[in-house]
Amino acid sequence: MPEGDTIHHSASRIRPVLEGHVPDEIATPHPRFGRDRWPERLDGRVVRSVDAYGKHLFIRFEGDLVIHSHLRMTGSWRVRDSGPAPRSAWLVIRRSGQDVIQLRGPVLELMTESRTRFDQRLAALGPDILGHELDEAEFLRRLRHEDPTRGIGDALLDQRTIAGIGNLWKSEGCFLAAVDPWRPVREVSDDEALAIVRETRPRMQASATDGKQDRWRQVYNAAGRPCPRCGPPALIRARGQGDSNRPTFWCPSCQH
Ligand SMILES: [Zn+2]
Repeated sequence: MPEGDTIHHSASRIRPVLEGHVPDEIATPHPRFGRDRWPERLDGRVVRSVDAYGKHLFIRFEGDLVIHSHLRMTGSWRVRDSGPAPRSAWLVIRRSGQDVIQLRGPVLELMTESRTRFDQRLAALGPDILGHELDEAEFLRRLRHEDPTRGIGDALLDQRTIAGIGNLWKSEGCFLAAVDPWRPVREVSDDEALAIVRETRPRMQASATDGKQDRWRQVYNAAGRPCPRCGPPALIRARGQGDSNRPTFWCPSCQH
């Protein structure tokens, strides 16, 4: 699942290829970009930095231009030796025999640096769970600011509360902290809410470093299997949660 750790890992793979360099070639094979003239607009510009915030990735060029990407459920980034572009490639940035490839969008836009600061979606983001330091007080302030009747699992998905947690880490974090994801936020103590992010953050950091998210998966997509903590007969359950009905996985016997 493309969540904050996936995006930070992509940024760390793209950075050594592009940062501080002028790309040899920029291509936008997907027809959607035919009229945007990205190759012309970015031609000859140095990539100043590659960074991630929450689930957003930014490739910043000199001259105030920034490529902003959000993968939602479908997109991905790939770095590999140069070769023919895959059919689903929206963007290929080539440098020194390496291709940085963005596949299937779906959010891929060229914007000015100042727009990244004022864009409502971006300006509203909460603290990044993978930031150098996690601002726990700000996370709690934002959590308490929103609908107190919402389940904690659903609340963790709100990128305005904390940025970077997606459907997988929402379920894993609640499991790790033994907190029932269905409990309304108003019945979750500060200590419990912090326990969830403190359990989740180091695992996401490890996954952001090595790209191996799957090894941390205990309950996500494990409906009907024995609970890794209680063992049988306790089984992991799954049910859609929140406005977007994203499945939540949990163990009813050890998560309270
Ligand atoms: Zn259990």
